[in-house]
Amino acid sequence: MLENRRDPERTALADFHSPKSFVSFKGHVYLYGLQDHMNMREKIYNRAKGMCQLCPKPHFVDWDSGHWHHAQKTFGGKRCDGLCCGVWACAGGHIKEHGRTIHWSDR
Ligand SMILES: [Zn+2]
Ligand SMILES: [Zn+2]
Repeated sequence: MLENRRDPERTALADFHSPKSFVSFKGHVYLYGLQDHMNMREKIYNRAKGMCQLCPKPHFVDWDSGHWHHAQKTFGGKRCDGLCCGVWACAGGHIKEHGRTIHWSDR
């Protein structure tokens, strides 16, 4: 799918650590390597101000115990790693969402 392919201009602007990470023509983000994942995890955490975005009742989830939930399951066979599809969540909310235990780095 063309629109899911690398957009060279937006990818250059994004300043990724890994040369494999990219922004698609649709604006979704696909990351490779630990560094780019850690950077994005921090953005998702900061945007949420550490508040769980899955549970109906707002509650704080700290950096160490929080999970990065990918709200978009697949798009052209891959999950978007961008802020657009990223959700900060507690372990309990995340397990409920997937029906199994998933660590943020299990991609
Ligand atoms: Zn996205
Ligand atoms: Zn929660």
